[in-house]
Amino acid sequence: GQWWKSLAEERSPVDLRTDQPHAARMYDYFLGGKDNFPVDREAAEQARAAFPGASIAAVENRAFLRRATRFLATEVGIRQFLDIGTGIPTSPNLHEVAQGIAPDARIVYTDNDPIVLAHARALLASTPEGRTAYLDADLRDPERILAAPELRDTLDLTQPVALSMIAIFHFIPDADDPYGILGRLLAALPSGSYLALTHATADVNPSMEQLFITYRSRGIPGQQRTRAEVERFFAGLELIDPGVEMVHRWRPEEPAAEGEGPTDAEVSVYGGVARLG
Ligand code: SAH
Repeated sequence: GQWWKSLAEERSPVDLRTDQPHAARMYDYFLGGKDNFPVDREAAEQARAAFPGASIAAVENRAFLRRATRFLATEVGIRQFLDIGTGIPTSPNLHEVAQGIAPDARIVYTDNDPIVLAHARALLASTPEGRTAYLDADLRDPERILAAPELRDTLDLTQPVALSMIAIFHFIPDADDPYGILGRLLAALPSGSYLALTHATADVNPSMEQLFITYRSRGIPGQQRTRAEVERFFAGLELIDPGVEMVHRWRPEEPAAEGEGPTDAEVSVYGGVARLG
């Protein structure tokens, strides 16, 4: 082949598979990021044609991640975070929010996409008082995540941890037992830990179902879930007020003025934060 291409391939530590779209890179495109390829942009535009709110949903989901992290660090005093399905670094990242409040906060990031691994350095710029680690692992193998040295050397599992599952479970179909996977993770965390979770829904906008049809047609498994199905992720936990809510209406910094801000139909992502008793 062309010499520069083979050189780039030789130097690349991971196979990014730029011949097929990836959820992490499509999400980066929806957020206005630059770490995506033509195949991702094309698939993302196909998804946007099905669900026009895609970028609004991504932006509001990301804002929930910031507010939930701020809530956990400030109002609860959480100092340890396990973020699974981290995505391509997008400022501010979770550790920047948490360590901006508590410089000693410790964060473990996990994703199974090689593009996230390739950009992991941006996630490792910890404060000197705190610590960050990156783990290349699959949510569907929670025991491997829990046993990984990257996690064990960073987090103390006898102390409360916030498990951050932001916009990942809609990529885990029922056949992969998402509730069982979450249960196995939560079982490893002590009382006083927290779960922060967001999830796409077609409850108020059937177009979200169409979005997942386009994802599946491009080889990305996933499904939207109803409010009851999202609430089931919080079963047995103590939901923090206001419970499971559209992400843009979960503890907004300033309530949107009448007729302003995004609509539920545009956002179509539920979010919630709950405490393990
Ligand atoms: N949590 C971030 C990114 C969400 S995009 C945010 O909300 O801003 C969803 C991410 O989940 C992608 O980066 C994708 O690679 C990751 N993901 C999907 N399935 C996964 C799996 N089985 N294991 C680990 N990560 C997964």
